[in-house]
Amino acid sequence: MTGARVLVVEDDAPLRELLARGLREEGFAVRTAATGAEAMERAHSDDVDAWVLDIGLPDADGRDVCQALRAQGYDAPVLFLTARDAMVDRLAGFRAGGDDYVVKPFQIAEIVARLQALLRRAGAGAEATEAAGLALDPVGHTVRADGAETAELTPTEFRVLATLAAKPGAAVRRADLVRAAWPEGAMVHDNTLDVYIARVRRKLRALEGAPAIATVHGVGYRLA
Ligand code: CA
Repeated sequence: MTGARVLVVEDDAPLRELLARGLREEGFAVRTAATGAEAMERAHSDDVDAWVLDIGLPDADGRDVCQALRAQGYDAPVLFLTARDAMVDRLAGFRAGGDDYVVKPFQIAEIVARLQALLRRAGAGAEATEAAGLALDPVGHTVRADGAETAELTPTEFRVLATLAAKPGAAVRRADLVRAAWPEGAMVHDNTLDVYIARVRRKLRALEGAPAIATVHGVGYRLA
């Protein structure tokens, strides 16, 4: 575990420094970023074994940053930081994906313990994630395939597509798409999801080299 490379993404400077110092004292190799845009840059340039990722970033939702990373095949575990009042229910959905969250304010010891558990699990079940061939930008909510042009997505369209792109080739259940893309407890009718899928399909078709969304009858959808 010693020497594991952790990227801390937190816009609150004193908290960021506290985390960096505390994790370094525990033997982690720590880099930091203050925004979602900076986090995405670091994902490309640095090797990261685990992420500590604030949900409330000034330019992006930390969950969208995570989904964008997954869609690009980065499978390092993510430990989310969240404010006490914020959306803990919806975060619970992320735990199935091998991620975890800590509610502010926290003790460094708790962060260390959660990170170690995530790194152990990641090391044990290391399965390579295939990239979907889509670059998703969690700051501007845009998507790009092979070509130069980008398509603009609404936040909900972005979340639907990112959820599919995180598991390219695999059928994603309708309920999982709804859970990832709409607020907890939202009433989402079947045809509402279909309308969003149709819109995303249209936008993907306009992008050169983009994969298509296939319907998996009785289950949901799949990025093919
Ligand atoms: Ca914040």
